[in-house]
Amino acid sequence: MLLDLYKRSINYLRISVTDRCNLRCRYCMPEEGLSLIPHSEILSYEELLRLVRIFALEGISKVRLTGGEPLVRKGIVDFVSQLSMIKEIKDLSLTTNGLLLKGYAADLKRAGLKRINISLDTLNCNRFSLITRRDGYEQVWQGIEEAMKVSLSPIKINMVAIKGLNDDEIESFALITLHHPLIVRYIEYMPSGNGEEWTEGNILTIPEIKKRVEAIGKLIPIPSDQWDGPARRFRLEGAIGEIGLIGPVSDHFCEACNRLRLTPDGKIRTCLFSDEEIDVRSFLRNGGSDEDLRKQLLVALRTKPERHHINTHQFKKCQRNMSAIGG
Ligand code: SAM
Ligand code: SF4
Repeated sequence: MLLDLYKRSINYLRISVTDRCNLRCRYCMPEEGLSLIPHSEILSYEELLRLVRIFALEGISKVRLTGGEPLVRKGIVDFVSQLSMIKEIKDLSLTTNGLLLKGYAADLKRAGLKRINISLDTLNCNRFSLITRRDGYEQVWQGIEEAMKVSLSPIKINMVAIKGLNDDEIESFALITLHHPLIVRYIEYMPSGNGEEWTEGNILTIPEIKKRVEAIGKLIPIPSDQWDGPARRFRLEGAIGEIGLIGPVSDHFCEACNRLRLTPDGKIRTCLFSDEEIDVRSFLRNGGSDEDLRKQLLVALRTKPERHHINTHQFKKCQRNMSAIGG
């Protein structure tokens, strides 16, 4: 078991496999995109597999693939298939914007992916184009339907709620859960590298969201299981789907944080909101032994901060953009 300095058990690694993306969500990336990490600096799948195998022996049992957009990286299905063969990894999942999902869902399922999170911030086609600066609303829904068809389950729909952008859709998202086996999760808008537009004023807080959902129907709490992470789970009375509430800003859940993140260029980040990064790429590329890599993991554990400092005077926006960390 991997314990950090605050006795938190760390078993979850989020791997950002690319910083490239086929959308330009306003809250995440600028219109013109970001300067990209050169291909030569991005970890190869072989390097990633080596790392995961070493970390899995130490206690990492849960892996999520993210990005940028993970489905734009060539070879992702084979990578999932290799990861799914690591027996210590009990939970393998992926976060996608859904744009390419229709073509990938069946192959991902066959490759051993267990479940999937799809980001979707609006149920309105025109607004989708406004938020993401690209068209593709129908494609995302086709992806969601395909994921349901091939039983990539549970399917979680992540909605970042932002005042003045999509806050009038809270109720519509909740209503989806009445008749679909989907988990709709509301996520507070977080400050990130590109968070120029982020202010405390446009965060719709989880207590506000909960109140609005409760106006539709009775919200019944669901006990968490070991794979739930920071979401608080509920079900609207009579619904077949679920609601999840994730409040990194208003309800910081740092005391239960079980995760590390790996950037596309091979740095371990110990907290989404800290720029502290532990290099593993130079060890991977300069003949580092498995023991060297294991030691870097232990350094990460020792440097994982007790909590983030959003909402305090100590807070500084992190330098890396969300798309190069993976959310
Ligand atoms: N491209 C994939 C996607 O959008 O699902 C994976 C990477 S994306 C960075 C991962 C998650 O981070 C998405 O659910 C996205 O909505 C979320 N995200 C990005 N910027 C955010 C912000 N400023 N506040 C809250 N969530 C954010
Ligand atoms: Fe791309 Fe995901 Fe960022 Fe949107 S949130 S720009 S889909 S990385």
